[in-house]
Amino acid sequence: MDGSLDRRGFLRGVGVGTVATAVGMGTACAAPGAGAITIAGATGEGGQYARPPLPYAEDALEPFLGRQTLALHHGKHHQGYVNGLNATLEKLAEARRAGDYGAVKDLSRDLAFHGSGHVLHTIYWHSMIPGGAPLGGKLAGAVKEDFGSVDAFLAQFAAATKSVEASGWGVVAYEPIGGKVLVLQAEKHQNLTIWGAVPLLVCDVWEHAYYLDYQNRRGDYVNGFMGVANWDFANRRYLEATRQS
Ligand code: MN
Repeated sequence: MDGSLDRRGFLRGVGVGTVATAVGMGTACAAPGAGAITIAGATGEGGQYARPPLPYAEDALEPFLGRQTLALHHGKHHQGYVNGLNATLEKLAEARRAGDYGAVKDLSRDLAFHGSGHVLHTIYWHSMIPGGAPLGGKLAGAVKEDFGSVDAFLAQFAAATKSVEASGWGVVAYEPIGGKVLVLQAEKHQNLTIWGAVPLLVCDVWEHAYYLDYQNRRGDYVNGFMGVANWDFANRRYLEATRQS
């Protein structure tokens, strides 16, 4: 162990077996097959994102959900996120070519909004199956450990999902640093992140991270951070997240 990375813990974090919903989409340029928890069809040709097919017929969930609901939700709403995500990535590429980052704040918001929409809808279709499938396997074991019982876990998930304020999602997630299954709420879904993305390197810009040294000069702090950033650590995480060696 090199001290900066708990390899065993990290590997457990990006592992596949117990992760049902924290799907690592990788990035648009990730190698084909990268991240074994990627869902087939969610990326297309040329590094573009794509809307994967439904894993069942549009009427397969009736009477719970009607054919028209599923057709509109999958065909129109999900496609809208995919289109927005690809368009935003192209605008970001244009900004890089021009060396003009004036729109990067708005484009980052768009990236988070459309990206999370695509990721969560991709997982959502697979989160349902005609007739349902009971919780079992290693996830059931993990849930018993973290929640006391499967019934208590299911009750918390249902309650959390019902009480999401306004629009959003109920989420069962695997948190890799603590190695725990968690029930989360996502209000809306963007909040400037893409669900399922694996962090490779981060920079804290809460004021507590720099105020004593830089006061309100966040830009100076970030410039200094760029001078000490550990991209070797980031590369090692990238290799593990994409299952390369
Ligand atoms: Mn939706």
